[in-house]
Amino acid sequence: MWSGRIASYVKQKTPLQRILRGFSQVAKTKTEAEGSDINLIKVGQNFHGFQVKDLKDIPEFRITAVCLVHEKTNAQYLHLYRNDNNNVFSINFRTTPLSSTGLPHILEHTVLCGSTLYPVRDPFFKMLNRSLATFMNAMTGSDYTMYPFSTQNYSDYKNLQRVYLDAVFRPLLKELDFMQEGWRLENVDVTDIKSDIIIKGVVYNEMKGVFSENENILGQKLQNLILPDHTYGVVSGGDPMEIPNLTWGDLKKFHVDHYHPSNCRFFSYGNFPLLPSLEYLNNEYLSKYTVSLTSHTQVPKQKRWAEPKTEQISCRFDRMGEPFEKQNTMSISLLLSDNTDVYETFLMQFLTELLIKGPNAPFYKTMIEPNFSGGFTPSTGLDTQPRDSIFTVGLQGLKKEDMEKVTKLFDETVDSVIEKGFDHQHIESVLHSFELSIRHETKNFGLHLLFGISAPWNHTEKIVPSLQVSQLIERLRSEIKNDPGYLQSAVKKENKHRLILGMSPDKNYEANLEKAEKQLIKSKTKSLSDKDKKAIFDKCTELQKEQQKPANVDLLPTLVIDDISDDVEKVDRVHVTLNNVQTQINRVNSNGVVYFKAVLNTNDLSQEDQMLLPLFCYVINKLGTDKLNYREFDSLVSRKTSGLQFSNHIADSLFHLHTYEPGIYLASHCLEKNVESMWEIWTQMFGISRLEDVQRFQMLVQLYMANLTHGIVDSGHVYAMQAAASLVSGSAYQVELLSGLQHISYMKRLIHTSNYKAMLDGILNIAKILFDKKKMRVALNISPDTQTDILRTYENFINNLPEHPKALTPEKETTYITGKVWAPTDAVNCQHHVLNVPVNYCSKSVLTAPYTHADYPKLTVLARLLQSKYLLRELREKNGAYGGGARLSPDGVFSFYSYRDPRSLETLDAFDNSYNWLKQKLEDGIKMQDVFEAKLGVFQSVDSPIPPSSKGCDEFLKRLTPDIKQRYRADLMTVDKDGIEEVADKYLSEKNVSNTGKVVIGPKSEKMDVSKRENEMWTSMTLPSSYASSRAYLSDCLNFLKSFSWLYNYSNTHILVKRVLLHFPCDWVLYFKNLSYEDLTKLLENNTEADCPNNLKTLLNDVEKLKPDCAVYSKPCKPKSIHNSGLSRKKLHEITSLAPLIDDVCRGNNVDSIIDIGAGLGYLSHLLHDNYKRTVLGVECSAEYVDLAYKNQQKFYPNSKNHVKFAQHYIDSNSSEKNNNFAG
Ligand SMILES: [Zn+2]
Repeated sequence: MWSGRIASYVKQKTPLQRILRGFSQVAKTKTEAEGSDINLIKVGQNFHGFQVKDLKDIPEFRITAVCLVHEKTNAQYLHLYRNDNNNVFSINFRTTPLSSTGLPHILEHTVLCGSTLYPVRDPFFKMLNRSLATFMNAMTGSDYTMYPFSTQNYSDYKNLQRVYLDAVFRPLLKELDFMQEGWRLENVDVTDIKSDIIIKGVVYNEMKGVFSENENILGQKLQNLILPDHTYGVVSGGDPMEIPNLTWGDLKKFHVDHYHPSNCRFFSYGNFPLLPSLEYLNNEYLSKYTVSLTSHTQVPKQKRWAEPKTEQISCRFDRMGEPFEKQNTMSISLLLSDNTDVYETFLMQFLTELLIKGPNAPFYKTMIEPNFSGGFTPSTGLDTQPRDSIFTVGLQGLKKEDMEKVTKLFDETVDSVIEKGFDHQHIESVLHSFELSIRHETKNFGLHLLFGISAPWNHTEKIVPSLQVSQLIERLRSEIKNDPGYLQSAVKKENKHRLILGMSPDKNYEANLEKAEKQLIKSKTKSLSDKDKKAIFDKCTELQKEQQKPANVDLLPTLVIDDISDDVEKVDRVHVTLNNVQTQINRVNSNGVVYFKAVLNTNDLSQEDQMLLPLFCYVINKLGTDKLNYREFDSLVSRKTSGLQFSNHIADSLFHLHTYEPGIYLASHCLEKNVESMWEIWTQMFGISRLEDVQRFQMLVQLYMANLTHGIVDSGHVYAMQAAASLVSGSAYQVELLSGLQHISYMKRLIHTSNYKAMLDGILNIAKILFDKKKMRVALNISPDTQTDILRTYENFINNLPEHPKALTPEKETTYITGKVWAPTDAVNCQHHVLNVPVNYCSKSVLTAPYTHADYPKLTVLARLLQSKYLLRELREKNGAYGGGARLSPDGVFSFYSYRDPRSLETLDAFDNSYNWLKQKLEDGIKMQDVFEAKLGVFQSVDSPIPPSSKGCDEFLKRLTPDIKQRYRADLMTVDKDGIEEVADKYLSEKNVSNTGKVVIGPKSEKMDVSKRENEMWTSMTLPSSYASSRAYLSDCLNFLKSFSWLYNYSNTHILVKRVLLHFPCDWVLYFKNLSYEDLTKLLENNTEADCPNNLKTLLNDVEKLKPDCAVYSKPCKPKSIHNSGLSRKKLHEITSLAPLIDDVCRGNNVDSIIDIGAGLGYLSHLLHDNYKRTVLGVECSAEYVDLAYKNQQKFYPNSKNHVKFAQHYIDSNSSEKNNNFAG
């Protein structure tokens, strides 16, 4: 994988913060774990060719750091001993390319295609199934490449270490691997030498995908432009336009130059012994090398500019996002400290937080609150990945005319900070957040440490000081104390190395890229002789053959069944009910922190209110309380706690399909000494009785909207799986409504009303219903030593929480809801979501069995087996998708998916074929070892380490008790081939189409020809650009028609008779008169002429805006039983096309009853019930028709009597009253 800023991989901002935030649970006291040899190690000693250079205790993390150097090669080794089972090992190289051909990235992929000891294609992917790794990956950053893994099992650790080391030091680097992973020319149809030639390759496609996200374009360009002189000036992952300039020879040379021990840093973390690693490293690899100079990989400091620079770039127009005019971005960046200067970089991180984060930060006040943008860009903050760190403040969602004012605001903000300084309480709250995060322990601590230090370690050997965070905070505290103007003067430093970067959407962005790609292919192919073409064809045929050869995975090491422990981890927990609030107390080693989590049941909310919940969760902690305004409240919250977290909560029933507990999830944590303040804060939250700041609310909503469509490209497979699951599962449907593509549509529709006052009232109404202790259950993760005191304060808190008098809403009996889905009975429900992205994300869902059902463990293993043995090969190796697989989720939905996929329908076919493949392979091919490997894969996720803050959470949130887990575990152990075959027959053999759904998210494409697909009903989810909701589109259409009615109110033939031309505005006539005949015909395409009258411009723009992107090609439904005596073909076409559309609209809006106005003889009404189980009332003014409709029903649809009714009625203004008479 590639990540220009590896930081984004961990989704947190800066490495130091990650060091701060990470902390793992197991370190109790520094007692020696079995096998650890840390006590044997002293400075100056030699072990297996390594000399110990430094040894330091880092008490805040309970770490002992050992720095070693390999004497013969100069390779560096950093070992962080900590009594944590989740051990980490990594090999890092400094890789500093000077071109954008993607050298380090393609090399990272290719070394994982087989090595001397393990000549197995993709040993990396194969190992995924032979290991219990808690993390396994490889990443290319701007100036380094890393190969990290983590595991809790020592045999596994040694196995993976062997595979990784051999991969990087002795890779095969075959030409075919280079072609597969890097790039190649290939015939579109690989069996036809005459077919067109295109460019293919895994990295080539991956990078096309990466740069289809505007965020990535901005981040990449920013780094390239502000650090132009050396390796940061190029794209280390590879620019798709440059990748095809790379040769296999370049790749091999780059390996020799960069993957040398002298250019290498080894890292290990945890409680496994160190010396065996050193011995193995030295004997097998390092002793065979001599030292090599590494000056060619060093990165010089960037020469500073004498003057600031301004640049403008373009990006794709996000059709799901804001209107075109509001998709501009503007960012201002400064080059700051050298990241090897630990304190200076720490200080810059502190200042960055202080300047940017939260409503009390200066940049938030001046740039976000005036509400003219869509908020900060993701690149805002301090980027410490490059050697010189980059401070950026950027705004997205800007109008063109607002771009200029960003620079001005930036300067004014800085000036005002220099003049007035920072608010004392604000400084305290940022310091508090740093201190709290040292104590808060997160998952995979060792790995986070590694990510945190890799960037500076690349440029300095002295890496330990950057881990000594407490010392850094202490120094900062004393500097501030000694000099009240300390922070101001740090801001004040003159800096001319400043980049002002604007980015604007271009509607032709994709078209231009396509054109450039065509041009590139042409330049690569134009001088090819027939002989060359034959060579290309032969090579690709060879590659195909190679890909289909079964791999000899037996060469790879593997774990055995005894390596899996039999028991699930038991958490020390008790359940109590305090004043009617169910509370689960988890006694954990919480390191002086109190963790509070709660679920509020939302069953009492109307469906409409439920739809508002995601927005509720986003805004409710940002609006202040009855006692404090939002600034004061935020200041209090951040001085005393980690912040208040709100999110949607939908917990699937473990026993029943379609069933879930709807709710919201609240959480916060604090130091033990602040626990009373934390309760006080939540008490204020629960006491909110008025929300009046509409202006702030409007700003928050707009920030929410601006981020809604970001990330669809990066997580497209998640959206696709969710959308497909929503076609088959009632609970998945609710998830889709609250967080999927449907949520985006809903929000857009809502925003279109612009009625913020009403929305805010809705939010307040939700708060009034939900903030009620009767609806709440709680989990506390606390330390056993202090629990008595903590619980006393907790009880007090609960007793004083508001409880609503009963009458507010009728309470429902159960906390669970059973959802519904509508599906055609005779076809698979399929959706194509058309987005302007260059790749596809495909998914197929099949509804199977709930978690506690006997089939569930078998299905889990089946999913894993299909993924590793079939899908990865079909999708990744053969079809060129970046990834793909299958998985089973707790709601019982079995999902297939592909990620960044150049194909769409072929992929769906590959999903369908998995059943046949399996049937055949079960006869001959699949061995018990394969089933075991699949199980190992499942255990990887079942056994992943849980930090103290999350212990007991499965039980609290999902009611997944240790007993249920234990049974699932035991059942998993016993799954065999027969069990797998049984569930495959039962669920995947396509007998039951109504339990299946398919979704493609991807571009408009001729390849999506669904007309000939059997048993599938396709709906295209397209609207013209920038519309995500049909309501908004319709209303714009109506407005358009209204304002230009004079143009079409006459039939064409009357133009002269009715003197229509006289209605034309004078300036139009003048303008038309001056146009040439050609210009006149081109008018619709090209309306940018300066002298074009404004009114005409509007008309042409509107036409452009309202033009649908492509036709809705929902396939007419097949009437099971249309009794069409006398039904014309036109009529038949109408109703069979209209019915699926109506059904679709109903589904999107959660409607299940329909009034068919002008029902006629009731054909459509019957069809809607027959195919989609809708309840229909047909209203018709002709009594005779109503009579006939009933007669038809009696004759042909006797079973629909309770669901389809007809009424004679002439619609007038009294109709709504009359409507009641039809009820029943
Ligand atoms: Zn990659």
